[in-house]
Amino acid sequence: MGTPYLSVVIPVFNEQESLETLYHRLAETLDNLGFSFEILFVDDGSKDNSKKMLVDFYKQRPHQIRVIEFNRNYGQHMALMAGFEYAQGEIIVTMDADLQNYPEDIPRLLDKMAEGYDVVGGSRQNRQDKLWRLWFSRIHNGLRRRFTQIDMEDEGCMLRAYSRSVIQRMLACHETSTFIPALAFSLANNPTDVAVRHASREAGQSKYNFYKLVRYNFDFFANFSRAPLEFFTICGFVVATLSIGLFVYIMVHRLLYGPELEGAFTLFAILYFLIGVLLMGLGIIGEYVGRIQADVRKRPRYIIRRVLDHKIQEEVSYS
Ligand code: UDP
Ligand code: MG
Repeated sequence: MGTPYLSVVIPVFNEQESLETLYHRLAETLDNLGFSFEILFVDDGSKDNSKKMLVDFYKQRPHQIRVIEFNRNYGQHMALMAGFEYAQGEIIVTMDADLQNYPEDIPRLLDKMAEGYDVVGGSRQNRQDKLWRLWFSRIHNGLRRRFTQIDMEDEGCMLRAYSRSVIQRMLACHETSTFIPALAFSLANNPTDVAVRHASREAGQSKYNFYKLVRYNFDFFANFSRAPLEFFTICGFVVATLSIGLFVYIMVHRLLYGPELEGAFTLFAILYFLIGVLLMGLGIIGEYVGRIQADVRKRPRYIIRRVLDHKIQEEVSYS
């Protein structure tokens, strides 16, 4: 068998409840496409039965399925990167394992790619997520539109298609924290969006709690915008200007009415507020510095424990 036309890359982290249905629906959709394909499952350190299930899928279709296993959990975007490293297709499609994306929508992405686009992003219609997640996304999208050059409809949707050339460009980037849809957008010649369906999560839990989502947002903005830093520069200017006014007011007040203690507590309040702003600024600088440190250390971004690939007769182990 030569190289496949289409690669589908799926990160998997404790998804034992949905994998069986995903496998059947996806295989059926891809079988009906009429061209060669491969499915790359990247196990992102699952602790449940997912690993074993993926091995079973591989055994059922060794010529179409490959499995990449991490030694531990590195996050969805690193799992996608590892999938890209192994993907051979001319077109690479990514999707989630939890069936919130419809495998049956893949042909829509491919049709759009055939029109000459090099990145096609799914845009979830009637998004079926918890209310707080929808609000979180709305705020994120608003900030993203205003403060970054990333102009896509729905960057949170992982059902997306990329051309080989965009994948190659992404692989040439070695940043340790990244956000794949935004990275691809910034490297694409001709990106577009297409409407896709969205289902609620029927089984298993979302892997993103509030804290993890906040972290992801830092990843996004620290990687694709300097606006948070600029915001603190502007804050600095505003506070410095206001403090000149306050100083003049206090001096005039003292000259007119003599020294007095009145207003001391107001000054405390202002002071605490400013200390808060300062600490926040330090934290934001820390977010950038931490990422610089991670990149400067040049440690491997992920460790692949083993790859199941029919071309490699033995199950290879990497250390
Ligand atoms: N995922 C992963 N590693 C993680 C978290 C998630 O590989 O650390 C996978 C997960 O198995 C799923 C996809 O990324 O296939 C999206 O995760 P999830 O559905 O929990 O995200 P949500 O839909 O809540 O944004
Ligand atoms: Mg999901």
